[in-house]
Amino acid sequence: MAFKIGLLGLGTVGTGTAQILLDPQGRHPLLQEIEVYRVGVRSLDKPRLVEMSESLLTTDLESIVTDPHVDIVVEVMGGLEPARSLILKAIANGKHVVTANKAVISRYGDEIFTAANQAGVYVMLEAAVGGGIPVIQPLKQALSVNRIHSVTGIVNGTTNYILSRMQTEGGEFSEILADAQQLGYAEADPTADVDGLDAADKMAILASLAFGGRIKLPEIYCEGISKVSAADIAYAEKLGFTIKLLAIAKQDLPAPEKGTSLQVRVHPTLVPKTHPLASISGVYNAILVEGEPIGQVMFYGRGAGSGPTASAVVSDILNIAAILKSGGDAAKLHPLLSCSHQDYCAIAPMEELVTRFYARFLTRDRPGVIGKLGTSFGNHQVSLESVVQTGIHGELAEIVVVTHDVREGNFRQALDEIRTLDTIDSIPSILRVL
Ligand code: NAP
Repeated sequence: MAFKIGLLGLGTVGTGTAQILLDPQGRHPLLQEIEVYRVGVRSLDKPRLVEMSESLLTTDLESIVTDPHVDIVVEVMGGLEPARSLILKAIANGKHVVTANKAVISRYGDEIFTAANQAGVYVMLEAAVGGGIPVIQPLKQALSVNRIHSVTGIVNGTTNYILSRMQTEGGEFSEILADAQQLGYAEADPTADVDGLDAADKMAILASLAFGGRIKLPEIYCEGISKVSAADIAYAEKLGFTIKLLAIAKQDLPAPEKGTSLQVRVHPTLVPKTHPLASISGVYNAILVEGEPIGQVMFYGRGAGSGPTASAVVSDILNIAAILKSGGDAAKLHPLLSCSHQDYCAIAPMEELVTRFYARFLTRDRPGVIGKLGTSFGNHQVSLESVVQTGIHGELAEIVVVTHDVREGNFRQALDEIRTLDTIDSIPSILRVL
């Protein structure tokens, strides 16, 4: 065997990865030259879903990343530590690294890629975003000749599953989350998914590749789906929208001067039903890339799961093996496969975002309420696309407003003024519109 793999983790993704590597028939012939050499796990007693010699398993993961025989370390153990330290140690020992760990890359990418470039090794991460969907490699290669205008993704299967069910069943978020947990579609602790943090990790990686600079994760605006109500989903539907948790990175074209800013954000969004992302439902993921001159390209598929994610992991292993086999000089990293970003992208503050908004108001049912709302919006240069009085809740009337494109700062100021009106009881929801 030409290439030896040290696998860190034999859980969902590690098992799928081993299954592909141990059964290469009918796949790319180079896979026959790749050997699962060592496998690091936490417990040696657990039953495993893949047949392999027990002697390959060890709980001493450090011995794998320092083993002189290992060519490529595949980190599919998850978590921040010890994953980060093991990746860095593997790099320091001259190993190429393949990882599915978006949490580590989005936080420590700077440190990891700087170390990898110094050591002349590759760090590949196709599986970190969109599971089985090949999107990282196209962004690095085929799409890189374009000026990218935007990357918009449904990159979290759990939240897309919950929102899709809220849409079809009309249920509330908390009921459907509880059911999704029972069915195994949501984690026992769903925070990273429902609060949009997982999507932000993934968008940090996508935006960095699409816009050629590092992204500081805390600068990504992040709002989850827990406040989306069945009422909003129903009103959105009537107005011709479906609500999706979108991760968006966008820069106006022509590309502005270096140092000017990029929008990067994650939030529930009203998506027009005619938009290509509106029909992505259930646990599926999709990433829409828009660039000049290519126009729109959309990637769609399974964003998680053992087999799909392993497909992405093994594609990275194959790429590295192919370069090594063709005599790739380790000191000269392939420029389309390595990461050479030095600078951080400047991220625009949310007040400067220009977008449409949807807002739902509960108002005291008195004459002239809609006029007062219109006046307050007008005072802050917010023009309205539609205003609908939708129903009566006891003493209160419900009014739903969709704005034209407006600066977020102006919209927020208008809302501050509206909150002071004695006819306004509350503003239960404010959502952005794509
Ligand atoms: P998992 O099923 O929980 O498996 C983790 C594996 O790593 C297990 O084999 C575990 O050993 C081992 N492990 C964890 N911590 C360890 C430690 N400290 N020392 C030794 N071994 C340790 O996780 P997964 O779902 O495969 O996810 C792995 C990575 O892939 C994560 O970064 C995740 O974000 C990413 N990813 C997952 C998916 C997916 O569909 N699951 C999709 C895309 C990306 P034991 O088996 O002995 O417990």
